[in-house]
Amino acid sequence: MRKDVRILLVGEPKVGKTSLIMSLVSEEFPDEVPLRAEEITIPADVTPERVPTHIVDYSEAEQTEEQLFQEISKANVICIVYAVNNKKSIEKVTSHWIPLINDRTDKDSRVPLILVGNKSDLVEHSSMETILPIMNQYQDIETCVECSAKNLKNISELFYYAQKAVLHPTGPLYCPEEKELKPSCIKSLTRIFKVSDLDNDGILNDNELNFFQRTCFNTPLAPQALEDVKNVVRRNMTDGVNDDGLTLKGFLFLHTLFIQRGRHETTWTVLRRFGYDDDLELTQEYLFPMVKIPPDCTTELNHNAYLFLQSVFDKHDKDRDCALSPEEVKDLFKVFPYMPWGPDVNHTVGTNEQGWITYQGYLSQWTLTTYLDVQRSLEYLGYLGYSIIYEQESQAAAITVTRNKRIDLQKKQTQRSVFRCNVLGARGSGKSGFLQAFLGKNLQTQRQIREDHKSFYAISTTYVYGQEKYLLLHEVMPDFDFLSEADLACDVVCLVYDVNNPGSFEYCAKVYKQYFIDSKTPCVMLAAKSDLHEVRQHYSLSPHEFCRKHKLHPPQPFTCSTIEAPSKDIYTRLTTMAMYPHARLRCMCACNRCSYCLCQNLLKLELLRSIKAQLCRVVFNSSSQRPPPLYSLTKRSVTALCRLTHGLLAREVTSQTCFWLPFFLFLLHVFTLC
Ligand code: GDP
Ligand code: MG
Repeated sequence: MRKDVRILLVGEPKVGKTSLIMSLVSEEFPDEVPLRAEEITIPADVTPERVPTHIVDYSEAEQTEEQLFQEISKANVICIVYAVNNKKSIEKVTSHWIPLINDRTDKDSRVPLILVGNKSDLVEHSSMETILPIMNQYQDIETCVECSAKNLKNISELFYYAQKAVLHPTGPLYCPEEKELKPSCIKSLTRIFKVSDLDNDGILNDNELNFFQRTCFNTPLAPQALEDVKNVVRRNMTDGVNDDGLTLKGFLFLHTLFIQRGRHETTWTVLRRFGYDDDLELTQEYLFPMVKIPPDCTTELNHNAYLFLQSVFDKHDKDRDCALSPEEVKDLFKVFPYMPWGPDVNHTVGTNEQGWITYQGYLSQWTLTTYLDVQRSLEYLGYLGYSIIYEQESQAAAITVTRNKRIDLQKKQTQRSVFRCNVLGARGSGKSGFLQAFLGKNLQTQRQIREDHKSFYAISTTYVYGQEKYLLLHEVMPDFDFLSEADLACDVVCLVYDVNNPGSFEYCAKVYKQYFIDSKTPCVMLAAKSDLHEVRQHYSLSPHEFCRKHKLHPPQPFTCSTIEAPSKDIYTRLTTMAMYPHARLRCMCACNRCSYCLCQNLLKLELLRSIKAQLCRVVFNSSSQRPPPLYSLTKRSVTALCRLTHGLLAREVTSQTCFWLPFFLFLLHVFTLC
């Protein structure tokens, strides 16, 4: 809303400009007036529109032309005053004043004009006949008014109209010649209609109308008033009311009517409530409210925002198949000035057999946008009218800024629900396949994706200890000389090599050594295309040896060349690692990093095995290598103990306990040998 309004009065000498101002201020006609009144400011609380208003007089005798031009450029509205009994002063309106003002103002930012016929007490007839053609000729003339400083007639009205012309201008809304709403106004009102049509049936029913009324004017409509409104529309057009609700046509007609009856403020109130400025653009404050995001924090949508997005989905999923067909997507984004989702979105989130974005996929895409570019998410929520429908202060109420990641690490706990995994690997190693498999697409389905529809992101949900979490996979372009901060910043790293390509592991090894060897971010080595023949990698260490050396999990075999949708296990594991990066004992099998695995590796040593075998032979006097029954029994108990360790880990037991358990296992193992 505007901070203040500046009204300038111009016109020929002696038409009564100064008297009008004095009459307004003192509420009586001054017998004697100065040539020019001092600039006066009316405080906000005594003006009808509650905006401080400055009134500025002009006197040819006291001011230079330059001063006049300055005042014109400062004014928000200009009243051209003439005396109704002075023909010459009327002629001067068109011959002098309007051209002079137009010359001094930009065509795009013309100030509204008001024609003021003063001294109406001196004549019987009205000057309107002469004035109306002028009004029709010049679009910038907002209105005209006849008044008398002497009789105090229409004085406060005059200043009220001037104020209104600034605060609720006709220009952007209505075209007087065509007698219809301007296209940009129709567009804005159509968006408002769509946002308010909560069930998307193309009709504002009584509930929706009441909600709309409450939202815009803070009061519901009385049942009778509601009927009256509909009756007015019914009387004027055939398809304005349908099924006892207001159609878009009826809604637009009502606003045309408001404007034609001089009640622009009604339409403006609606437009402003839905975030529009004077040029009928959504304001920056509405679309981009402040959200402070400290470093090492991420952005997520909160529960309320998901509920809202769910209702938006339901409203547009007309066939109730829990997926959005291309038409439904188009319909959903009709309230946007542009289509925000490209064809790549269909390969970023989950889709159904037809390739349509599912409900889960839709929420995932919102989650992704919020995580990667919260400003964009705020903007999109603005178009959908989140803060209006959910009666929130701003779109910012939809966003949760998570706790600093470093505090999460310290406390070994996180409340976050979105985790990012950067996927790195040489060209052709199978990164995209890994991303697409997360969306349930096997190799065959992936081959149908057009090159220009491919996405470098994939996001979906996984369950970690019963909690639903989002895992965001990001495929990083393979160029390890230029990996940026953003390429490296994530919660878990996935290094992909192709088991069938001997040159592919080197990239993983180099990237790991250059960027992740000292980082706290957990890393997983992925042996992609595991359905193909595994070849020896051209690297000094085999992937297994490399992992062992660097205390990484052994390479995880992965293939998306499956008949069914590929398995989701690896994604759950990645999410778990992202959630619990501190938990070194994160797997009981062979993570190669935890104390248990170290013990296991020790036991697996060739030397120890041969001693064991020899001991067995000596003790049991048998040539067979079969272990004694006691040993088998212990092996079972080892497994049980492993489970216990893992279970404790899941409950975040301190690493000390996790150390002693494997140590105990080790001793048990050695004892069984003796
Ligand atoms: P300005 O030069 O436009 O500022 O005009 P003034 O306010 O100085 O008024 C010029 C003359 O017209 C003064 O003698 C006023 O008393 C007189 N006058 C101003 N307004 C009215 C009015 O509404 N009715 C009548 N009868 N005289 C007016
Ligand atoms: Mg004067």
